[in-house]
This record gives sequence, C-alpha cells and structure tokens, in this order.
Amino acid sequence: MIGLMPTFDRAEEIEGAVNEQAKWRENGDETYTQWRRRFNASWNSAEVPGSCPVCGSATLHRWYVQEDSDATVLHGVLYKGRGRLWEWCSTCRTFEHLMDGFVPAWWVDPYPVAPESLRYDPGPIEAARGVA
Ligand SMILES: [Zn+2]
Repeated sequence: MIGLMPTFDRAEEIEGAVNEQAKWRENGDETYTQWRRRFNASWNSAEVPGSCPVCGSATLHRWYVQEDSDATVLHGVLYKGRGRLWEWCSTCRTFEHLMDGFVPAWWVDPYPVAPESLRYDPGPIEAARGVA
C-alpha cells in the first residue's frame, strides 16, 4: 500500500496550499462596525488611510473588478458598471468580499491583476499589489 501514501513532497504541497488559504479570514466579528466605518470614510482610492480595527496596522486596501459597462447613478454617485469589491488588511489578512456591487466612476486599477487569478479571498490581488 506504500504506493498510495502521499510522498513527502506532496504532503508538503497540500499543507502549503491549506495554510495559504487559511491565512485569510472574513471580517464578521465585533470590529465589523469600525471596519465598515474605516472603509466608508475614504471612499476614493485603492489605498485606505487609517488603522485596521482588527490588528491596528495602517495597511488597508480595496480593489474593484468591473464586470460590465452599464453606468448608473445611485444616491447621487456615478458608477461606471457592475462589479465586485474586495477590502482587506494586508497585515492580519482580514477581508470582505462584495460580489454583486457597482464600480464607482473614480476607480482606476492602480496595478494589474490577472482576471483569471481572482478568487474569493484577496490573496492574488495582495500578491499583485506587493510586486507593483
Ligand atoms: Zn489588520
């Protein structure tokens, strides 16, 4: 049955993948109100000033992906189309992912992210941000 045992390298690879995913945690705790307040307070750029309510680091970021070009105005704000939004802290890796939203007219990609790399957590975006 030795042939069915994972090799050492394979086991390391699986453990590595699990750890990489496990690093990200959706914000759903008692800091959530502060978290929303922080992101909503500076809704004009990819880099979000202020400290993370979870870990205290000034490393908050957001990223939009535009999925269509149906411009619309909601509550007096111009949006250039539908899309998805990730908001995260690159220190403690807390994040929020809004899958069905609108992309504001002011949004411009500050660094490139391969669309096919995107997943539920912002890991690929954070990786792209790090090398930009
Ligand atoms: Zn944090």
